[in-house]
Amino acid sequence: MIVSQSRWPAVLGASPAFPAGLPLVRPQIPDVPAVTRRLAEVLESGQLTNGRRVAELEERVADLLGVAHIVAVSSCTAGLMLVYQALGVRGSVFMPSFTFAASAHAVVWAGGTPVFGDVRRDDATLDVDATSDRLATASAVSATHIYGTPAHVQDIDTVAEQAGLPVVYDAAHALGSHVQGRPVGGFGTAEVFSLSPTKVTTACEGGLVVTHDPGLAKAVRLGRNYGNSGDYDCTFPGLNARMSELHAVVALAGLEVLAERIAGRAELVAAFRARLGNVVGVAFPVVADGDISTYKDLTMFLDPEVVGLTTGEVQAALTAEGVDSRRYFFPPIHRQRAYAHLRPSSPLPVTDVLAQQTLTVPLWSSMTTADVLRLADVVHGIVREAPRVREVLEQRR
Ligand SMILES: *Cc1c(COP(=O)(O)O)cnc(C)c1O
Repeated sequence: MIVSQSRWPAVLGASPAFPAGLPLVRPQIPDVPAVTRRLAEVLESGQLTNGRRVAELEERVADLLGVAHIVAVSSCTAGLMLVYQALGVRGSVFMPSFTFAASAHAVVWAGGTPVFGDVRRDDATLDVDATSDRLATASAVSATHIYGTPAHVQDIDTVAEQAGLPVVYDAAHALGSHVQGRPVGGFGTAEVFSLSPTKVTTACEGGLVVTHDPGLAKAVRLGRNYGNSGDYDCTFPGLNARMSELHAVVALAGLEVLAERIAGRAELVAAFRARLGNVVGVAFPVVADGDISTYKDLTMFLDPEVVGLTTGEVQAALTAEGVDSRRYFFPPIHRQRAYAHLRPSSPLPVTDVLAQQTLTVPLWSSMTTADVLRLADVVHGIVREAPRVREVLEQRR
């Protein structure tokens, strides 16, 4: 068992652990010279969109996930909007508040209304058991594979099926996650991945809609192209949500290294946790035995009563070390100004607690083990010296 080499915190006068700074993520395109050549080919071909690279990406992802229909789009948000539009979602969509705002924005843009349910304490994914009464009036269900941790897809799909509702997974974090050997992408009515720069696989910007339903795939395909099937007699008001050929080239390169990256990230997270050891008041989202997370994020839940520091105070102490961090996801959607008018019909106690406790620290695929171990030492030192850290931070106010 490796024991943490607790560091004296920078906020108490030590020199910063990462003087050059430790960013939250560092997107890396594999084999840039090869990608650049393929980008040049696209530029020289004159076929910048609706071409063979996007088609190739869709085929590759279909093989990878074992799902028949993949529609590449310009972003996950646009993909979600098109899915909700295609499903004809008009009323409420039962979904977590503890997720990124775009999960809810897409519902609103498509003409629906989010109805927020609570999340599970252990892994922060949608808790259908605790809130299934709120499903009664919904017209669809949505859940997020948050941080890459798969949602409880069996429970969610079963409950939704009994209620006769479609399920849309916000799979933005989860390209490469698995549930008991089955790739995320094949669950529910549709799953939508993001390929934005903070995700494990990036197209610079982009998204992927994945579904077993040929009719839904057709509608999304049409929808990403204004709803124009080619005769300019649009059948519905679509978007321009196409992925360009250039973006598809970048995404294809990322797919080549996806499995390797996910294995590497799991090792880095394991190294961080082993080094940190069991610190009371610090918990991690639970990934079920047999499931695989992309670990899109290295997120901790810090109980302020036990740790003796608020999440904001730990964040301030990390900033002094040169360490970037984010409170993913605070405030939860139901407490954001854009959604203030949608008061939840009943409280969301777990969401409110986790939103106070959550702190995401740096992790990227090519991060070194040495940096991860040092980061663990930094966190350990801040927590160990909590009373002094709080005192110093209070004096600064
Ligand atoms: C990043 C993210 C999105 C949005 O993805 P885009 O591709 O940027 O539109 C949606 N949901 C979640 C949970 C995300 O983290």
